Order: sequence, then C-alpha cells, then structure tokens
Amino acid sequence: MTPRERAEQREDKFLHPMATRSAATRGRERPEDRCTVRMEFQRDRDRIVHSKSFRRLSRKTQVFLNPDGDHYRTRMTHTLEVTQIARTIARALHLNEDLVEAIALGHDLGHTPFGHSGEAVLNKVSRNGFHHAVQSLRVVEHVENSGEGLNLTEEVRDGILRHTKGKGPILTRNPDALPATLEGQIVRLSDILAYVNHDLEDALRANLLSEADIPPEVVRHLGATHRERIGNLILSVIETTDLEREPLVLLSDAAHETLVLLRNYLYEHCYDHPTVRVEFEKAERLLRDLWTIFSEKRQWTGLEGEFTEEKLVDYLAGMTDRYAIRKWESLFVPQSWFVKA
Ligand code: MG
Repeated sequence: MTPRERAEQREDKFLHPMATRSAATRGRERPEDRCTVRMEFQRDRDRIVHSKSFRRLSRKTQVFLNPDGDHYRTRMTHTLEVTQIARTIARALHLNEDLVEAIALGHDLGHTPFGHSGEAVLNKVSRNGFHHAVQSLRVVEHVENSGEGLNLTEEVRDGILRHTKGKGPILTRNPDALPATLEGQIVRLSDILAYVNHDLEDALRANLLSEADIPPEVVRHLGATHRERIGNLILSVIETTDLEREPLVLLSDAAHETLVLLRNYLYEHCYDHPTVRVEFEKAERLLRDLWTIFSEKRQWTGLEGEFTEEKLVDYLAGMTDRYAIRKWESLFVPQSWFVKA
C-alpha cells in the first residue's frame, strides 16, 4: 500500500460522512495518474503555492494601495488568513482540510492590481466584463503554467469560482449561489470573516477610524479586540453548523447580523472613505491608460501568439500594483537621455 493510499484510508475513517473524500474526487479535466505520496487535494494545494500568480499576491492591494507600512494586509496575507480560518473550521467539523486549504489559497488568484478599483476598470472596459472570482478560475485553468493551466480537481475549481458574495447575502440556501462542497462553503464564509476583521484592524492602523468608532453592537456581540472577534465568529460557525440537520455551513443569527452590520459599516467608513477613494481614482486612471495604450500598441504587451482582448485582460489583471505603476511610468513619463560627458 502506498503512503497516499494509507492517507486516504485514514481520511475515510476520520472525516464526517458528508465530507468530500480525496479518493472520490470528481477528477481533473485532463486525467492524470495519482501521486504515490500525496492525496489529490494536497497536490492541488501544492500546484497553487508553486504558481507565479500566487507569489504575485504579495504585491497586490487588499484595501490600502501599495502600502508603505509593512504591517498592512496584502492580498497574500489576506489569503493566508482566510486559509487558516477555513482550516480551523474544517478540522473542527471533520471536513476535508486539504480541500479547504487548496480552495482558500487559490480563491483570489484572479485579483487585479489596486483591489476592487482595478476590478471595476476591467469590468467597464472589457467586452465580457470582469469579476475576480471568474478570473481566479481562468488563471488556474488557462493562464498559469504558460497557458496550460494547473489541471486542478473539479472540487477546487468549483470552490474558487463560487467563493464570492460581494455585497450579496452572506448566508443563503440558494444552491446556485453556493459551492458544490461543504468545504467550498467554509471558504466562502471564511473569506468574509477574515476580511471584515482585518480591514477593520487596518483602518484603525491607518487612523481612518478609532476604537471608539467601532459600532457598539460589534463589540457587544463579537468582542472588543480583533482576536476575540475572529475567535467568536469561528466558534459561532462551528457551533451553529449542524450537518445532521442540513448540509449548510452556518453562523448564529446574532453573529450573522453583526457581520452584515460590520460589512456595511466598512463600506461606508473605509472602502468608500474619501482618503481611500482618492488613491483608488488615481489607480483607476492608471489602469485605464494602460488598457488604452496596449489596445493601440499591441506589440508593447510582449504577449506571444495572437493578440486577443482576453489576453490583454489576463495581462493587466495579473500585474502587481508595483509592476503596473512602473509600467505606466515607463510608458507615460519621458525618460531622460544618458549623455556621455
Ligand atoms: Mg478573498
């Protein structure tokens, strides 16, 4: 028996009956032999961690653009926080931690530079529109690995595509809005548990808000510190989810209401705050300039093969904040000639 087969046996014994089992994966687009050591979702996780798109997350905006302060979240640290929250919940519910980890690590690979302002620009200029979750799937299917894709399992791809809620309902029973697996549901919820809490902390760090501004309901229901709030939300998911009753990952009503309140509060006082918006508007102009110039001067993209709008979207969406700024400078700011004395 191989190490992988032994691990699959352990998984089968330990996991909840409704958990997704690696051995029973719906498989990959292009069938592959199984690994001797790792189970299928472990392989997916490794492929994501080794991808270039994953490494670029460290220089992509979460909320604060290209932050100078070393303690602000980036898209990478957001991704890692989501992953750890999701793993904690999965382990407590006896669901598949490897699957949760792979989905969480891949969920934001399609994010543009400059956060949601970059996303808004590409959505406006691109004929097919743009959404980061759809782009995350495109990255793992068609962009990574020189266009070959990572050939991930169907469960991981489904979880990546359907992690998103935007301003829509956090809890839903609509099967079309939910991932196909319970593990995907965990990531979908962990994403918002992570971002509302760390964005609040970053807004405090940036002095956009002070502790006294935090809505009293948030302190009353979730706690006075970042640590307490995250802990209580995770506990609420674990205690409220009852898989014997229904296959849904849930939060208590009080926690859910408070989470909605906190999300709305952040939209109003942080994401749409004039100080934050002003930089976002500059970023939007910058990305729009890049779109325009590359549409005119296709050869400047350096893209191989036939130029298509999709490829330009992939190129721009894949840029880090820093790369986009440098590219814009090199294309729009006259460079001085070096003259030998
Ligand atoms: Mg996210």
